[in-house]
Amino acid sequence: MTYTITRGCCTDASCVSVCPVDCIHPRPGEPDFGKTEILYVDADVCIDCGACADACPVNAIKPADTLRGDELVFLDVNAEYYKNRVPAEANVEHTWDLMGPPRAGRPLRVAVVGTGPSASYATRALLLSTDTEVTILDRGVLPGGFVRAAVAPDHAGTKHFSSTFDWIHQHPRIRMYMNVSVGKDVTHEELLEYHDAVIYGVGADRDRPLGVLGEDLSNVYSAHQFVRWYNADDFVRPIDVVLSGGRVIIVGNGNVALDIARIVLSDPADLAKTEIAQAALEAIAAAKVQEVVILGRRGPEQAAFTRPELLMMPSGVELLIQSDPQTEADLASAEAGSKAALLAGLKRTSANLNEPPGPGRRAIFVFGAQVDSILGDGCVENVVVKTADDTIAIPASTVIRSIGHRGSPVAGLPFDDINGTIPHEDGRVIDKDTGRKVPGAYVVGWIKRGAQGGIGVNRSDAQETVLTLLGDFAGQIDRPKVGTAWAFKRFVKRKAPFLVSRRSMKKLDKAEQEAGERLGRPRLKRTSGIAN
Ligand code: NAP
Repeated sequence: MTYTITRGCCTDASCVSVCPVDCIHPRPGEPDFGKTEILYVDADVCIDCGACADACPVNAIKPADTLRGDELVFLDVNAEYYKNRVPAEANVEHTWDLMGPPRAGRPLRVAVVGTGPSASYATRALLLSTDTEVTILDRGVLPGGFVRAAVAPDHAGTKHFSSTFDWIHQHPRIRMYMNVSVGKDVTHEELLEYHDAVIYGVGADRDRPLGVLGEDLSNVYSAHQFVRWYNADDFVRPIDVVLSGGRVIIVGNGNVALDIARIVLSDPADLAKTEIAQAALEAIAAAKVQEVVILGRRGPEQAAFTRPELLMMPSGVELLIQSDPQTEADLASAEAGSKAALLAGLKRTSANLNEPPGPGRRAIFVFGAQVDSILGDGCVENVVVKTADDTIAIPASTVIRSIGHRGSPVAGLPFDDINGTIPHEDGRVIDKDTGRKVPGAYVVGWIKRGAQGGIGVNRSDAQETVLTLLGDFAGQIDRPKVGTAWAFKRFVKRKAPFLVSRRSMKKLDKAEQEAGERLGRPRLKRTSGIAN
């Protein structure tokens, strides 16, 4: 028996470093590390020790003979990677073993803004490799960032990822202040009065507009708003989303689009076993969505979702492709192993999308479909879509644009408005106009590299930034003194009177879990929309 990596793989390579026989690839240092959808076990080399499964933060590695149903396909997915693989000649040393030595004189004091994957990996690297003292600040009330606020609630393995960092929150060299907004409650300059450096892992918290007529009608939502609604995020109120039944149209075909399609088409009884927001659960159960139309502006080969996500549609939901001459031609010429070839295996439909949806539950991919406008009297009624052959008005009750995310500017730091990121060199923030570094400012995650890539990519990303930071301070802390941790506590309490302390945070977390347990759910999230 061997182990197999399945859908939830976060690619952070925790498994790679514990594998005694080097049977998991690509690994850090290999050319395709960070570019594949998941990591893969070489079944011919695996010795069945299980160390990888123990180390996996998202429970995605399983003994091959325990795979069932939809998971069985991952036997082939893992094997396929090794079919034509040429072993990398590159140096495959783990970069995370190369952290620099602690500073001379006194420990560094670093503020880390955010508690999502990128910020947490950065904090972890600082704690494990140096004697740095870290202040964690987050505008959310409970930690987790993207994982808590955006990962689909039915991805239990990925949700579990946050617990990988629980130990950080207990660490004696950590101070934690939740419900504090950096840039609003406290500024970068103020943080620097008490810290040597600030690492921003603030993610991408804005959506991209479509720029078409009717985008501001009621029942047109951004994916950002929608996923935060069903995750009971602090910054979206339950009443901010009204989900109507019938047909939902999603613009864009990335993983977030598939997450949303899956959630609204899921059996509410299955969703009720997850940590989905109670208001969203009730709305989805009441709406009884029958059809989700997923519009991709390009062809099947350019679909943005990853293969593991496509394989996750719940049973009872048909996955279909809207048949048209161009799509059929693209599918017919698909290269073996390509995304288009995977899609070619799906059933076709020639459903008349002008008509209301029929009974049953289905997701229909439409390719080469560009949104022209959204029409309705106050509320969305039709989406006008141009394809290669036609212009059609598709009736819909809800429209979600899932066309990517952008970061927001942080007061006092430069910002690249085109990419929605903070400009940097190896994680060190720079002013693009002058090329000069911004003192004490560093970035990790989506605010650094744009909204792309899964959770695990943040590990090497954070590693790069932390190495840069430690290099900048190697042997020379320019200010002998910064304000003490106690002084900062007094300061931040004054500036953010509603801050949530580490102790209160733990109480809230426990209360959510206990409330969930009573209902047979992992947690029952607090009502959202109460953050400052
Ligand atoms: P994404 O993967 O970048 O997909 C964006 C989609 O929007 C693409 O289909 C894109 O089409 C389309 N689009 C962009 N601009 C458009 C426009 N003006 N009009 C019409 N369509 C437009 O974004 P995402 O789904 O938000 O995901 C973000 C990142 O998070 C990705 O790296 C994703 O893999 C990751 N993620 C991973 C998971 C997971 O592993 N389970 C879950 C969620 C998210 P074009 O390709 O033609 O531009």
